Amino acid sequence: MRKPIIVGNWKMNKTMKETKDFIDAVDGAAASENAVFGIGAPFTALSTAVAAAKNLVIAAENCHFEDSGAFTGEVSVPMLQEVGVTHCIIGHSERRTMFGDTDETVNKKAKRLIEAGITPILCIGETEAQYDAGESEKVIRDQLTGSLADMCPKCVADIVIAYEPIWAIGTGKSASVEIAENCCRIVRDQVKVMYGEEAAEKVRIQYGGSVKPNNIAEYMAQPDIDGALIGGASLKADSFIEIIEKTK
Ligand code: PGA
Repeated sequence: MRKPIIVGNWKMNKTMKETKDFIDAVDGAAASENAVFGIGAPFTALSTAVAAAKNLVIAAENCHFEDSGAFTGEVSVPMLQEVGVTHCIIGHSERRTMFGDTDETVNKKAKRLIEAGITPILCIGETEAQYDAGESEKVIRDQLTGSLADMCPKCVADIVIAYEPIWAIGTGKSASVEIAENCCRIVRDQVKVMYGEEAAEKVRIQYGGSVKPNNIAEYMAQPDIDGALIGGASLKADSFIEIIEKTK
């Protein structure tokens, strides 16, 4: 009943030309009634991506929660609306560790995006030290308590939550299927605690962290994993097409 959603996160990669070439190569494969496929692209490539994509959904990788003002280097939600993106990644661990994103700012971004009709892809996940200390569940519940605070249950039902253990991002050391499923189940349970059964059943939860063509199927077979957020393996058209084909 939940439609799977697979999104590539290009991070600070790809020029406009590279974006056009990638989308021309991949978009046909992304036609599907049963799943949603998309790409998160840098701000400069978003117009190109939106114009080139017929099937892929296009996500920004960040936004500001204010609509305008003295925020040098930032991009607002109305600006993203004008470009035509339908999704926006927020709170990625790289933004939390390098650019000061917090649960509080992520919460403000999520609310502004929802108001604008753009689907947030809200990222959470524990560090390696927290994982080693057995704190994953506490970290997940705490991050969601802050990031999803004061929202309406229907709004939460429509967002996408990406569980990405930081130790698995870009390391090639993906979380085992058991760990990924267990943590995504905790995410769903926390949504239930905060917003009730209906929101928890509807919300889509992605696993992210070293997802590749050779492990996507086993993650997608898990009951609480509804998709994936994919960094490295989304950069090459052939590997992303392989991931799409294995999900369809
Ligand atoms: P990765 O990145 O697939 O390269 O591990 C995932 C992410 O950062 O979203």
